[in-house]
Amino acid sequence: MKFGGTSVADLDRIRNVARHVKREVDAGNEVAVVVSAMAGKTNELVRLCREAAPLHDAREYDAIVSSGEQVTSGLLAIVLQSMGIDARSWLGWQIALHTDEAHGSARIQSIECDMLRQRLAAGQVAVVAGFQGLGPNNRVTTLGRGGSDTSAVALAAAIEADRCDIYTDVDGVYTTDPRIVPKATRLDRVSYEEMLELASLGAKVLQVRSVELAMVHSVPVFVRSSFGDPDAQGLSGANLPDGTLICDEEEIVEKQNVTGIAASKDEAQISLRNVPDKPGVAASVFVPLAEAHINVDMIVQTISADGSTADITFTVPATDYDRSLSVLESASADIGFQLLEGAEDVVKISIVGVGMRSHAGVAAEAFRALADKGINIRAITTSEIKISVLIDSAYTELAVRSLHSVYGLDDV
Ligand code: ADP
Ligand code: ASP
Ligand code: MG
Repeated sequence: MKFGGTSVADLDRIRNVARHVKREVDAGNEVAVVVSAMAGKTNELVRLCREAAPLHDAREYDAIVSSGEQVTSGLLAIVLQSMGIDARSWLGWQIALHTDEAHGSARIQSIECDMLRQRLAAGQVAVVAGFQGLGPNNRVTTLGRGGSDTSAVALAAAIEADRCDIYTDVDGVYTTDPRIVPKATRLDRVSYEEMLELASLGAKVLQVRSVELAMVHSVPVFVRSSFGDPDAQGLSGANLPDGTLICDEEEIVEKQNVTGIAASKDEAQISLRNVPDKPGVAASVFVPLAEAHINVDMIVQTISADGSTADITFTVPATDYDRSLSVLESASADIGFQLLEGAEDVVKISIVGVGMRSHAGVAAEAFRALADKGINIRAITTSEIKISVLIDSAYTELAVRSLHSVYGLDDV
């Protein structure tokens, strides 16, 4: 059972979480719980690090920002104990949950779980601090923002749990962010592959790495709400309460052409105008960016009428925008562009669905819908199960709502 920040925002909410845990314990389940920091706590800690020094040691950043989870894991253990439930809190290093040394966005490498398994078998509830691990240098690491989801799925895989329940402030995964589109519909089941795309493309309900891990280790993940009366939600088991099961595609009977729509503001656009159109020019643009570890996403190239020059447009992560411009400026003699332009007020809207593999015309429908609203498309990318378009960010809501209706996803 994993509980996110809003689910453990204060003592009342932690007491409510404890009742969810009690329900499962009373039903005879062995329970490991992963908790996030109280809502807003991690942001506050990140701010403090930046205020202390804009450029700071990543090892100390991790020492600081991991502390929120230490508090909530201890508090939940105390509350459970006060309800007569045997419970113990665990920090990442105590388990130990080993990661690589990429402080701030470390990857889990292995989890020692013999001790946890023994305690679970003896009926003790393990309350694990999410988001943190132990690096090879014997220091605390963190798993990247939203990383408690990943702690939970990794732990579920390690202890071979029947399921990983992600309790949050919405009662499942919706066709799009229900806070942007109130007509969004809750999905009963989503395949790992679709969820991976949705999460990577902006649906921040699950951290991307948690979905990757769930897919690789075949951990069934169930997204559900921690709000409301825990005892009214029914038991976990064959009859699942309201929520969304992330599972194998084969377990999904009814496949829609489009499963969901996501929006990501984390992109910026860069355009190079009048680049000489000759072999090697794309390499001269993208090799220096790759060497600077800048991840390029969408790429569009258009050729001038006389065929002598090309315009190249592409996107980079918004956080790498300034760095990308300076890398390209430095390489300008090699590339030979006439003009370097960029835009940060852009958004990537993506349409995801495994049904696209076997259904023609899904992209055409999107382009028509956006044209009808007068929305200009700056760049397009597609893969087997997704279509992404880059548009002006001012049109985010209009675009998401229109596409949501066009594909028949509105809750009626
Ligand atoms: P937690 O603190 O529990 O980890 P998060 O804020 O990380 O919660 O994730 C839950 C939020 O994800 C919801 O409040 C919702 O606004 C957002 N969200 C974005 N896209 C979706 C989607 N497709 N379905 C459900 N929630 C979504
Ligand atoms: N508390 C961490 C964060 O805010 C981890 C999490 O909530 O999953 O990013
Ligand atoms: Mg989260």
